[in-house]
Amino acid sequence: MFLLKRIIIGVCVLLIISSMIFSHPGQAVDAEKRVEEETVISMRISDYQVYLKNHPPLDRLYRQGETCVFLVNSKELKSVRQAGAAILTQESLDSFLKKLPGTDALSRQAGDINGAYHNYNETRTLLQELESRFPSLAQVTNIGYSIEGRELNVIKISDNVSSEEQEPNIFIAGCHHAREWISVEVPLLFAQYLLEQYPDNPEVRRAVNGAQIYIMPLVNPDGLEYSIHTYRMWRKNRRYNGNFSWGVDINRNYGYMWGYDNEGSSPNPWSELYRGAGPFSEPETDAVRRFLLDHPPAGCLSYHNYGQLLLYPWGYTYEPTPDAGEMEMIAIEMSYRIFQVSGRFYEVGSSEALYLTNGGTIDWVYGTFGAPSYTVELPPDSFKEGGFFTSLELINSTFAENLPAMLYFVNYFITEEKKEKTRQNKTRIRKPIVKK
Ligand SMILES: [Zn+2]
Repeated sequence: MFLLKRIIIGVCVLLIISSMIFSHPGQAVDAEKRVEEETVISMRISDYQVYLKNHPPLDRLYRQGETCVFLVNSKELKSVRQAGAAILTQESLDSFLKKLPGTDALSRQAGDINGAYHNYNETRTLLQELESRFPSLAQVTNIGYSIEGRELNVIKISDNVSSEEQEPNIFIAGCHHAREWISVEVPLLFAQYLLEQYPDNPEVRRAVNGAQIYIMPLVNPDGLEYSIHTYRMWRKNRRYNGNFSWGVDINRNYGYMWGYDNEGSSPNPWSELYRGAGPFSEPETDAVRRFLLDHPPAGCLSYHNYGQLLLYPWGYTYEPTPDAGEMEMIAIEMSYRIFQVSGRFYEVGSSEALYLTNGGTIDWVYGTFGAPSYTVELPPDSFKEGGFFTSLELINSTFAENLPAMLYFVNYFITEEKKEKTRQNKTRIRKPIVKK
């Protein structure tokens, strides 16, 4: 056992060292190239739809009426020009970012450039602190390693935390996409809130006693660190694809209808929506896959920003799921609770209503387990209000407005579970639609 541990540690150290040697010069080149090459363009949606017929999708920042604004690299810009699509506006990313609210303030945070946002080490430390403060309710597990060797941590919160009970498993994830910093905070603060409020808050007690809540606030630690220290707009993980191309969009790498078409994800390694070499090719998604197969979820929330949306499957097709009615109902209840706190409106719909995606988390979770699953796009509503650059003040208010919806979500499955038991343990697993 001891020897095995030493071998594992040895291999990990080697992996980390080799990734450091390998990735540092590359990262510098990569960062320089990107800062110099990234351009923000806008075009009419009708032109973009024509472009999509023969090209992979672009990284869409926002839509304004009949116009869409995209972030493109030099290769993409060239292909847009070659396709003859009319570019309405064009400017460097740098000048575009200067016009956004909050971005300067954020980068000027003294000492720590991400301010009160949690980086990888801070997230890991907070999870460990919670485990040691609340040993009977919290357990932290390392379910795998990222490409650069960082731990992929899940915190389990439940009464009798060290035993597997006959309770619904709820999976809550954050930060598939590196630049979406607020999506780490909401799941992380939820874990902290559940544990600290457990003695006094009946709704929290009901959730923690009745369910096994698994929270993974940071699915993409390498990407987050890169976004903090090198390039704020980074979205993907840090896979080296060869040929000076980095990163896989891990929210396009899950194995349900992976690569179904080239509109919902891209086969091009340079694209921000690159789906990877194969389903679950990335250690981050593979760790989630193995973990959830061992702990089949009854419900799943995957946090992103921005857009103020509650999206449910399918993302890969316009066809509705057999459970669209139930999933819509849950989303409306959540949206209502958010609105009651802050007056902010989160729109409800199936994911394809926004744009088609394949290889996404929620399609795989629903397609595999039949579990109601949501992508929650946190505030703000638009890129012009800051987009990915949520201000420090937004951390607590965004968590506060989502809290009642999260508690509702967990408790929904406890009630459902009770109903199920009275129906003599009828199986909840739905047969996924498989469309060729
Ligand atoms: Zn995202």
